[in-house]
Amino acid sequence: MNTPLVTLVGAGPGDPELLTIKAVRALRRATVVLVDDLVADGVLRFVRRSARVIQVGKRGGCASTPQAFIHKLMIAEARRGERVVRLKGGDPFVFGRGGEECGALRAAGIEVEVINGLTAGIAAPAAVGIPVTDRRFTQGVALVTGHGSEHEPDWAALARSGLTLVIFMGVARVQGLVESLSRGGLPGDTPAAVISAAHTPQQRHALCNLATLADTVAAEQLPSPAILVVGGVVRAAPMWQAMPAGACRASG
Ligand code: SAH
Repeated sequence: MNTPLVTLVGAGPGDPELLTIKAVRALRRATVVLVDDLVADGVLRFVRRSARVIQVGKRGGCASTPQAFIHKLMIAEARRGERVVRLKGGDPFVFGRGGEECGALRAAGIEVEVINGLTAGIAAPAAVGIPVTDRRFTQGVALVTGHGSEHEPDWAALARSGLTLVIFMGVARVQGLVESLSRGGLPGDTPAAVISAAHTPQQRHALCNLATLADTVAAEQLPSPAILVVGGVVRAAPMWQAMPAGACRASG
């Protein structure tokens, strides 16, 4: 028998056309697919009818499947000889627990193949014309989570870094994030953007600045999943250029 194998596949931010050809091939081959919350339904059309599709996200308001259970399930299915695909939103290695899953699988003697996907961290800003590393405005980009945990980023250091800040899972805590960045010295007039459900039919966004970011998220009711962008690169968005100074602009 071949060495058991699990393929971690990045599904990209939503639009199935943003899948890689390798991802589509892996989906077509799979006999078992473990799917996360944020994977768009359209992506599953590449999975063969006979395959078993297991949702392991929070859809329907249920608590998400514990990570240890997902590991066990993948290991058991791979050992049984199934062609297992672990399908994740965006890129599996960008806030996707892909590293932990690889570790658990390899520890169990299972080979892992990783197929990158387009991360929302770059694709969501790009969807509204924001180039996250545009050298006219920044020296680079930091991908961070605003989710809040014991591994909280050093917001004061980020505020001073001159990097574009791309914040995942930040909408629910936006007020606290703005306060941390402001305390760290980031000026209130630093351009900011919120992009919700990028590359899906529900995509909406708003451009504003750090000082108005929390109010904008609330007023425009921009829901999760959303990416927050803070930094001068937001000025490159066509909608920013059409905006009077100090205004906020939202789009459906
Ligand atoms: N691995 C994923 C990130 C998973 S964490 C990736 O690389 O994109 C989940 C967070 O990703 C969400 O809370 C949100 O901040 C962001 N996200 C995922 N899909 C998104 C989308 N289509 N539009 C905007 N943000 C998205």
